[in-house]
Amino acid sequence: MDLRFSAEDEAFRHEAAGWLNEHLAGEFAAVRGRGGPGDEHALFDERLAWERKMGAAGWNCVGWPTEHGGRGATLSEQVIFHEEYARAGGPGRIGHIGETLLGPTVMAFGSAEQKRRFLRPIVRAEEIWCQGYSEPNAGSDLANVQTKAVLEGDRWVVTGQKVWTSGAHWSDWCFVLCRTEPDAPSHQALSYLLVPMKQPGVEIRPIVQMTGTSEFSEVFFEGARTDAANIVGARGEGWKVAMGTLAFERGASTLGQQHSFENELNHVFELARRNGAAADPVMRQRLADAWIGLRIMRYNALRMLTNADHAELGGEALITKLYWATWHRNLGKLAMDVLGARSEIAGDLPYDLTGLQRMFLFTRSDTIYAGTNQIQRNIIAERALGLPREPKLVPK
Ligand SMILES: Cc1cc2nc3c(=O)[nH]c(=O)nc-3n(C[C@H](O)[C@H](O)[C@H](O)COP(=O)(O)OP(=O)(O)OC[C@H]3O[C@@H](n4cnc5c(N)ncnc54)[C@H](O)[C@@H]3O)c2cc1C
Repeated sequence: MDLRFSAEDEAFRHEAAGWLNEHLAGEFAAVRGRGGPGDEHALFDERLAWERKMGAAGWNCVGWPTEHGGRGATLSEQVIFHEEYARAGGPGRIGHIGETLLGPTVMAFGSAEQKRRFLRPIVRAEEIWCQGYSEPNAGSDLANVQTKAVLEGDRWVVTGQKVWTSGAHWSDWCFVLCRTEPDAPSHQALSYLLVPMKQPGVEIRPIVQMTGTSEFSEVFFEGARTDAANIVGARGEGWKVAMGTLAFERGASTLGQQHSFENELNHVFELARRNGAAADPVMRQRLADAWIGLRIMRYNALRMLTNADHAELGGEALITKLYWATWHRNLGKLAMDVLGARSEIAGDLPYDLTGLQRMFLFTRSDTIYAGTNQIQRNIIAERALGLPREPKLVPK
């Protein structure tokens, strides 16, 4: 198996790195390294301007086909782009939900008119999207969503509550999984609607997280409206479309993040050398273990790319989410142990955490969002290992 990138890939790397380094300077120098977990609100307008700059130069949505405004980059090139983006210190992305989730979903399941209407504004970073799946009683058990939509004339009217909606407060649109067929069995009762966020029937209540910031919110729909045509797939096909989106969320879109993990790990190494923690034999083993884990992640990503066809990953991608999320959560804990007692003291008053503290707190959520570790294990058991399906609880 040849795990090396091809000469074309390396030429692409050179071009991407060159553009990023040249343009993450001057007016955009300040956004370098900003906007990551726990720092989501930093320099928002400047980061949005940066995404628009990338869009205008053809560096947004690089994996999308050129007919939809992308660059037609192969999977390997997409990974390379993510690596170079992290290496150059590119800021946390604002439009990533549109780029990695909604856009690919519209391309796979949407109508020609939806492709025309929704894809270009994502590439230009003119419309920002959020994901309206989870509800107070529907997380892992997503099919239990209770938000309802009723067709009144030429509009859907949406009522219900979503929760943990990342980026809701700065989004223009939300893709909402909701119940439109009350008499159908649960998996055929759902539809996938595209709902504008800036309207009177939508109320957003930010949730303050452990990091002190509000990356996500509760979203209340009280008679919110959207055009009848803003349904992806047919009525009652929402489950199928929603699963398509989840496959994008757990698959290729995360393959390129190892370089930002490496930046974090190097930071922890530096600290351990400086404060003497690296002299402790147990700590040394844990540091080495983290390094090995990251190498495994990288070689596994390369193995998947080698086996993949031009655009799709094979079944081995099923382990990706479980592996990276667990590794990253453990890195957060390791960082705090390297810091020792200092990890418990905020950088400044009233609650100004250091980057490593924010990383530790935010990584607690890695094994929850986009499917918890337990759910990922169920998926691996059933789809990759062919074990019997998880028994369903039958109501008495
Ligand atoms: C930072 C962050 C951002 C998020 N962003 C979004 C977003 O933008 N949009 C959105 O819609 N949602 C978002 N979520 C919500 C996320 O998708 C849910 O938190 C996740 O699906 C888990 O659902 P839950 O929180 O309801 O937990 P539950 O489903 O109630 O799970 C509780 C515990 O029970 C376990 N469990 C549940 N079912 C099973 C089972 N069948 N077998 C074994 N164990 C099981 C779980 O693994 C977990 O440990 C976000 C969450 C976080 C933390």
